[in-house]
Amino acid sequence: MRHEQRSPSDDPLTTLLDQVRRGLRDLDDGEPASYIPELSRVDPALFGLSLCALDGQVYGSGDTTAPFTVQSVSKPFVFALALADRGLEEVLTRVGAEPSGEAFNSIRLEPGTGRPPNPMVNAGAIVTSSLVAGDTPQARFARILEGLGDFAGRSLDVDEAVYASECATGDRNRALAYLMHNAGSLTGDVEEQLGVYFRQCSVLVTCDDLAVMHATLAGGGVNPVTGKRVVAPRHAQHVLAVMATCGMYDASGQWMLQVGMPAKSGVSGAIGVALPGQFGIGVFSPPLEEKGNSVRGIAACHLLSDQFGLHLMRAVDPQRRPLPPRSLHGAPLRSLR
Ligand code: GLN
Repeated sequence: MRHEQRSPSDDPLTTLLDQVRRGLRDLDDGEPASYIPELSRVDPALFGLSLCALDGQVYGSGDTTAPFTVQSVSKPFVFALALADRGLEEVLTRVGAEPSGEAFNSIRLEPGTGRPPNPMVNAGAIVTSSLVAGDTPQARFARILEGLGDFAGRSLDVDEAVYASECATGDRNRALAYLMHNAGSLTGDVEEQLGVYFRQCSVLVTCDDLAVMHATLAGGGVNPVTGKRVVAPRHAQHVLAVMATCGMYDASGQWMLQVGMPAKSGVSGAIGVALPGQFGIGVFSPPLEEKGNSVRGIAACHLLSDQFGLHLMRAVDPQRRPLPPRSLHGAPLRSLR
């Protein structure tokens, strides 16, 4: 059960989120993912934008409680659980921390070690999912589901139809997993490991959940809504670092340049953003650009970062303390289009 206070709809931050979302309603490029057939059944008009501050207050606009599958936005959180269970050193022997510059389902492994490039692409995420503690695939998935729930601050469920759809059509991930098994970076029963990975991608969340999950990372591993420590501060830091360099796949460099906040996207149309020490954002809009990132999600994050100087690399004015999110105000928004 959630205990966060939802702010009144007339507060300045909610007004601001409404303005951003309304300003992007006409942006109708892109198509929902169809390579997992069940994902193409979504209503493409759904559009939600939520922000969770580190005091646990959640602000939102639009379809912030509509459920969708988390897909690759699960990857940073499962990486965090693998770090908690195995430590950084052991995890790094099995998966790298370098941007691949390639698509999320790229097949390239590191020559010599067979390691996938990083935990944010499919190959790396299949490995990190296999590194979470648990003697059986069922136990490992139970730990993942509970861990994702701890990040979100409520218990979560699986969309069985999306799971079945991806199992039936996930041959590219299957091929990747067998290649990694052959190279030694993925151990154990390949089909069982894939089953856990596909289930993890099929966990249902909302925009509000994504905001809380990313606020938990932004706050050093403590869920700001429940007060529960989910992972150690150093592990939250490791995850944010890898999100900053690899979270948007082959759009990661451009993203860091223009938005400048650690983020992760998923093919359901979700994007999660964490600004360390400040807040978490969740955006959901199913139509994707060619790299598999939500078109409106990208635009909303650009707009917020640009208008409010949220870029991590922005030089801090020594006269001013860092802005808490509530001091963002609903100044008229310039369109980025
Ligand atoms: N389940 C999806 C896959 O493995 C996740 C990919 C994504 O969200 N980018 O293909």
